[in-house]
Amino acid sequence: MEIVNAHVHMIELEKMMQKNAGLKIPGGISVLQDLEATLPLLSPQTLIAQMDEAGISKSVLYAVDAPIVYASNEYVQSLCAQFPDRLMGFASVNPNGANAVERLDKAINERGLLGLKLHPPLQNFFPNDEAVFPIYEKALELKIPVVFHVGTTPFGSLSRLSQANPLLIDDVSVEFPELRIMLTHLGTLAHKEAFMVVEKNPNVYIDTSAYLYEIKEILTLDLITRLGPNKVIFGTDYPMPYAGVIHQMKDFVECLKNLDLTEDVLEGIFHKNFEIFMNYESTEEDLNLEQIIMNMKK
Ligand SMILES: [Zn+2]
Repeated sequence: MEIVNAHVHMIELEKMMQKNAGLKIPGGISVLQDLEATLPLLSPQTLIAQMDEAGISKSVLYAVDAPIVYASNEYVQSLCAQFPDRLMGFASVNPNGANAVERLDKAINERGLLGLKLHPPLQNFFPNDEAVFPIYEKALELKIPVVFHVGTTPFGSLSRLSQANPLLIDDVSVEFPELRIMLTHLGTLAHKEAFMVVEKNPNVYIDTSAYLYEIKEILTLDLITRLGPNKVIFGTDYPMPYAGVIHQMKDFVECLKNLDLTEDVLEGIFHKNFEIFMNYESTEEDLNLEQIIMNMKK
């Protein structure tokens, strides 16, 4: 079965340190204590080796234009060029930065990136703020999907969770019902709110890059059926450690395979839903209530 990992970070460590030389990271944040273990995983060869071991044919690398986690569009483009059969890239622009709309256009049209990753709490913006809407309009014009980090993020006083509330993405979806949107990490502890937004909006998807124990607890066949047959997409958040364990892509593949899911559902999560997400064009006509009742009577 083909497997695509739709959520991977290759952080650009040196540039990140240059850009943040003076940044003070608050002490006592438990997840950051495991971060050293991720350093060897930032080599592209190790990434490809982990994909091979896990039976993953393709991964989607996210640029992140934010102070703490940083990877530039140029860097993601260069890695995709090294492994064109194995890697795809999503761009990132900071909505608070200069020329965000133009930079997005360039990342897609000149660098060949295929989507946009936004991280509202790390980039310090509210996704339903009208000031950001030109970015969504550009994404629609470019026919690219947008990934939003939602839920908690482990950076203490450096970020605000009010900007990561999944319900803010419902506002975006109401304003831009044609925009393809993916939420991350099964909601990152804001599971219920994230699932509400996915269930309600035909254009909103969600990825599985949560901790393994959460995947086992949350991702039931009943939930997937309720959200809709094509809404859940496989991702791992490589190279982030989970509960102190060094990231192994194969653990996530095994975890999904061991869930009580049908072959069809698993195939959807592993690659088909991603393909639908990338090519989404609503074929559903808007209905009026009269038509719905007529259809029921037939
Ligand atoms: Zn991530």
